[in-house]
Amino acid sequence: MFADHATIEVRAGDGGNGVVSFRREKYISKGGPDGGDGGRGGSVIAVGDPNTQTLLDFRHQHVWAAKPGGSGHGKNQTGADGEDIQINLPPGTLIYEENEDGERTLLVDLAEGQRAVLARGGNGGFGNDHFKSSTHQAPYECTPGESGERKTLHLELKLIADVGLVGKPNAGKSTLLSSVTRATPKIGDYPFTTLRPQLGIASLDIERRLVLADIPGLIEGAAQGAGLGHEFLKHIERTRVLVHLIDIEPADGSDPAANFQMIRRELFEYSPALAEKPEIIAINKLDLLGGQESAQTAVELLRATLQLGADERVYPISAATGEGTAELLEACWEALQGGPN
Ligand code: GDP
Ligand code: MG
Repeated sequence: MFADHATIEVRAGDGGNGVVSFRREKYISKGGPDGGDGGRGGSVIAVGDPNTQTLLDFRHQHVWAAKPGGSGHGKNQTGADGEDIQINLPPGTLIYEENEDGERTLLVDLAEGQRAVLARGGNGGFGNDHFKSSTHQAPYECTPGESGERKTLHLELKLIADVGLVGKPNAGKSTLLSSVTRATPKIGDYPFTTLRPQLGIASLDIERRLVLADIPGLIEGAAQGAGLGHEFLKHIERTRVLVHLIDIEPADGSDPAANFQMIRRELFEYSPALAEKPEIIAINKLDLLGGQESAQTAVELLRATLQLGADERVYPISAATGEGTAELLEACWEALQGGPN
């Protein structure tokens, strides 16, 4: 499944132990103490990385552990510090610490470029040199390194897409996303090609950018928990505008208008609040119809069947050729200026 949350374990490295050692010099049977301190354990650090868009990697790697610090050595040599490890997370990731009872406390709401220590490495222990004093010249004490912090963390991605693409499988959502953004979603005939939301950023011009989310295909019954239902619908709930993509000539011979209504029903059933978001209708694959005229006729027919009012615009596009997509993005932009929804 696609990932919008994950539970991981972070383990910072333990500090290295301090050691007991005495100087050995020529002609001196026993010198002073020279046991070095242990090195610091490595910490686990989160970084808000704009090039990371999902938490998918964290499904595969559950434990993130940094190296321990090295033990001290004679000649007052401090042990090597354990290397920190850095976890790149999408900006907007909420990082919660989870206790044994499963209760969560928010640690960080990770911003772009932010670095946050998730688990601090243990301090190194003291070598015996640390314990010497005028009255205590040959100390045999040393201390062990401190334990590194260990935490169970719950990661949750605040996926903030402005525009959610909805439509039946194969309507062309992935194709549209890849044609207007630099995202490279998988495209194919298999109905559930898109198993997780793909995000892409479309630039209308230098100053205007839209975050689009390609939402995995809704299927009949999704609201009842069949198929990919609830999990992914959670994502579009946060979008402010929906683009409803209709395949004008579905390969399975289904009726475009009926497909549209089916998706509308799904939306309502899942979340009336979602269904009430501003929706822009785009009719896709117009290139299949061969010619402006038949495209126009098809659009008119659909409008009539759906009983759309004169003020409800429909955007004819071809995700494949890019035709009409600039106008569609402008319409999205305009709808977003209507204020937060
Ligand atoms: P999704 O399930 O909605 O994400 O649909 P995809 O983007 O995976 O597209 C499904 C199929 O329709 C693929 O074979 C696409 O190449 C094809 N397709 C998408 N958009 C267009 C279009 O504008 N014109 C044509 N001719 N084919 C398209
Ligand atoms: Mg797709």
